[in-house]
Amino acid sequence: MHRYGAAPQEISQAAALEAEFANWQGVQFCLALTSGGQAIQIALRSVGVLPKDLVLTNAFTLAPVPGAIAAVGAKAVLVESAKDLTIDLGDLEEKAQNSAARVLLLSHMRGHIADMDRILEICDRYNVTLVEDCAHTMGARFDGLRSGNHGLVSCFSTQTYKHINSGEGGLLTTNSAEIAARATMLSGSYMNFSRHGAGPDETSFETVRYETPNMSARMDNLRASILTPQLDRLDTNVTRWSERHSVLAKALESVEGVELPMGHSKALRVGSSFQFRLPGADANTCQLILDQAASLGVELKWFGSAEPIGFTSNHKSWRYIAAQSLPNTDEILSTLFDMRVPLSFSLDDCAHIGRILQHVLENCVVRDPV
Ligand SMILES: *Cc1c(COP(=O)(O)O)cnc(C)c1O
Repeated sequence: MHRYGAAPQEISQAAALEAEFANWQGVQFCLALTSGGQAIQIALRSVGVLPKDLVLTNAFTLAPVPGAIAAVGAKAVLVESAKDLTIDLGDLEEKAQNSAARVLLLSHMRGHIADMDRILEICDRYNVTLVEDCAHTMGARFDGLRSGNHGLVSCFSTQTYKHINSGEGGLLTTNSAEIAARATMLSGSYMNFSRHGAGPDETSFETVRYETPNMSARMDNLRASILTPQLDRLDTNVTRWSERHSVLAKALESVEGVELPMGHSKALRVGSSFQFRLPGADANTCQLILDQAASLGVELKWFGSAEPIGFTSNHKSWRYIAAQSLPNTDEILSTLFDMRVPLSFSLDDCAHIGRILQHVLENCVVRDPV
């Protein structure tokens, strides 16, 4: 089961996965790892992030993102969110210009892709290296290009709730041989770097192999073997997610007071989760909506809860990093609801869930008296 346990001429399942994913993604190098969080840590180390360095990242993301920054001893500089749940480009530009951060860990949270042309322009202008967290955008595109092909290095997760599922797992991609070599050594390749499926040639390891510590984050063959067949179905599944998401969006788009995040016109999102906001609703109303939906069998998440329940995506719960003032993000999260859209839901299931949400929202949202 160990990725280096294959016979000398045999291609291990982990190496096969790397080759297939690199080919599917349209990237030169791919490294299979134990988790998406480990992929991010290794990506940050590979681009040269050192303890105490500042790293720009989204204020609205999932805990493994600030966690990976903390794991390398760096400091997260949180960037505000826009109403469409992407990173706020004005705040990004301001912080890229006025902070010492030279790396942006851009999290495409819930699959919402920012204007990548502007992101690249800002990174270029302030000499900021772009690392992408594509945990929610495997299979998504911006301007035709697959998400994860805009930055210097990108990280994917194959954890159960992502687009391909091996329980836990991660993939790192890059077109830089130097970064791929460093990441491979960091992942714990011992000296087996020539036995990878989409790694750089041996010359890239000449000095790197002596200078890069082993951090043991290899993917095993067991997990790799269940991922390759899922990759074959991923493009079809992207379409299936979009169909389900459209049914839900259609049900809620005409409900008064509800705002759906409008994607960028160049972005092709994977609709594996559904979000809506209720600008102006108070905490009691939001709690009532959660309770009523739950009583009708629909489990929503609410990002505005004072306490983290089951997940943490609120920067106020990340007390291991310096507290930061993010009024726009706080405002957005205070009425933001979220639901996973698993492919086990049929289109009829989605229509039914849509009707339940319509009913709950129409009854709970207290409108201003005319
Ligand atoms: C799931 C996730 C990750 C990586 O998570 P792992 O559980 O470590 O694979 C990173 N970023 C976001 C936004 C995620 O949702």
